Amino acid sequence: MNDCLFCAIINGDIPSTKVYENEKVFAFRDINPQAPTHILVVPREHIESVDALNAQNGESALSCLLAIPEIAKAEGLTGGYRVISNIGEDGGQTVKHLHFHILGGKKLSESMN
Ligand code: AMP
Ligand code: ZN
Repeated sequence: MNDCLFCAIINGDIPSTKVYENEKVFAFRDINPQAPTHILVVPREHIESVDALNAQNGESALSCLLAIPEIAKAEGLTGGYRVISNIGEDGGQTVKHLHFHILGGKKLSESMN
């Protein structure tokens, strides 16, 4: 048992707007979008963040990365997009389950902080 929000979403205990799933990956729309398209790509495996990646769990992260171009194509993000993963307190991470934000659908700001 854990009290992780994204584990609950993956399990279907909390509703989400799913856009993609496979054996290792679940992706859904961010509830508070920061761009016209804002999708969260998360591994089904609970991993705290990029900082917790290692040789044992790395396949889950790779599966997330491989899903990103498929999702971007399905969303019509032909002009480009941004992928962000926040890590820890200083990185602004609020949900402690590894996730990659896909932001797109407009020309994004060049600022990254
Ligand atoms: P981060 O700040 O990088 O940890 O990102 C967490 C993201 O999860 C934020 O962009 C939130 O808007 C998003 N979020 C929080 N709760 C939900 C939810 N129930 N469904 C979808 N997205 C959520
Ligand atoms: Zn989790």
